[in-house]
Amino acid sequence: MYNVKSLKAEEFISDEEILDTLAYADANKDNVELIDAIIDKARLRKGLTHREASVLLACEIPEKIDEVYKLAEQIKKDFYGNRIVLFAPLYLSNYCVNGCVYCPYHMKNKHIARKKLTQEEIVKEVTALQDMGHKRLAIEAGEDPVNNPIEYILECIKTIYSIKHKNGAIRRVNVNIAATTVENYRKLKEAGIGTYILFQETYHKKSYEKLHPTGPKHDYAYHTEAMDRAMEGGIDDVGLGVLFGLEMYRYEFAGLLMHAEHLEAVHGVGPHTISVPRIKHADDIDPSAFDNGITDDTFAKICALIRISVPYTGMIISTRESQQVREKVLPLGVSQISGASRTSVGGYAEAEPEEESSEQFDVSDQRTLDEVVNWLIKMDYIPSFCTACYREGRTGDRFMALCKSMQILNCCHPNALMTLKEYLEDYASEETRTLGMALIDRELEKITNPKVKQTAYEHIHDISEGKRDFRF
Ligand code: SF4
Repeated sequence: MYNVKSLKAEEFISDEEILDTLAYADANKDNVELIDAIIDKARLRKGLTHREASVLLACEIPEKIDEVYKLAEQIKKDFYGNRIVLFAPLYLSNYCVNGCVYCPYHMKNKHIARKKLTQEEIVKEVTALQDMGHKRLAIEAGEDPVNNPIEYILECIKTIYSIKHKNGAIRRVNVNIAATTVENYRKLKEAGIGTYILFQETYHKKSYEKLHPTGPKHDYAYHTEAMDRAMEGGIDDVGLGVLFGLEMYRYEFAGLLMHAEHLEAVHGVGPHTISVPRIKHADDIDPSAFDNGITDDTFAKICALIRISVPYTGMIISTRESQQVREKVLPLGVSQISGASRTSVGGYAEAEPEEESSEQFDVSDQRTLDEVVNWLIKMDYIPSFCTACYREGRTGDRFMALCKSMQILNCCHPNALMTLKEYLEDYASEETRTLGMALIDRELEKITNPKVKQTAYEHIHDISEGKRDFRF
């Protein structure tokens, strides 16, 4: 039984509703009149339902797909401008009691090196990340109540926020840890986290149970209802995601949008971000063992459709994807990317010896942060290190309200320029600095609101004078 407002996973992610949706999409994939009406609705920039978006995903009419791509590009420009926010993952521990068959950290993998960062090691890792120029981290840890209890995660967050090295600081720590209790979510909120991220992996219950044969993660309902508990615990920015390749992508896509609709219906605020990882090679894992892999074209189509279906939700692409794929999907709606990532426990301060590898997956994009920033600037994107919204309390429904009214552009555009300026002054190579300064000059000219423009000029001047107040 489908009920978007129910708090039971099997009711707000109803298998029956998804199967009906897929049948409806198949029956209408050539229905040009309906497809035109759906695209027209998407042009209003208020989003689409999972049923409407699923029809567009099933549609293979080239001209219609082209219209979807163009609309996604326009919506991306309207809501996010040409800003791309940068972050890095920080793996704290790969001890894990779960049996996820697609992840090398699964408990039965006896040959992967097991590591857990001490607070001293975290200081070294975070110092190395600050020296690259990072301001925003996503911390990751396997599920292990003995090795990685909530107290350990909280201590790590405290340590990360306390490190101020040269002009560096980590100003936003997003957290990607296993589904937990309301009480623990409350503790994370009190520790000052940004977004709580939890990938569903797959919305298909039977596949989910097969892919997670052992450990606490086996419980589909507990995992799927985690975001409701997080919100009950006071975390109002949550990040959804599925691991594409595990199940049929059309099923996952409908489930993902239904989850977003559920959060909006129950809590009045949809997901802050959606991540779109695809399964990759890793120790003990062969992606070809999963027969639901998606092509780059399908991947791009999914990104474009997420953009027009939930225009106010950020979209994240990690270094799982190559430079080439990232270039293809950036204009279609991606708002955040990771740069210079290490997916091992440790590895920023010192490279890991190969025989002691603790990597979660192979990184496709191996460039340094400076190379990523340089590349973005050359494509006329503004690499942004901004964390102001969360620092100024613009989270949850306050952020969404600003975003939906497109007012966010008045904050984000100048803030992106200021934080880029900071990066260029403190960390960039000569070439990146020159390119970046020229970009800032061009972008400042584009600001139309005189008050916003003046403030941006003043702050950028202050940054050149060496002032750093960490407001952004
Ligand atoms: S996906 Fe997460 S829970 Fe599953 S084995 Fe890997 S680290 Fe553990």
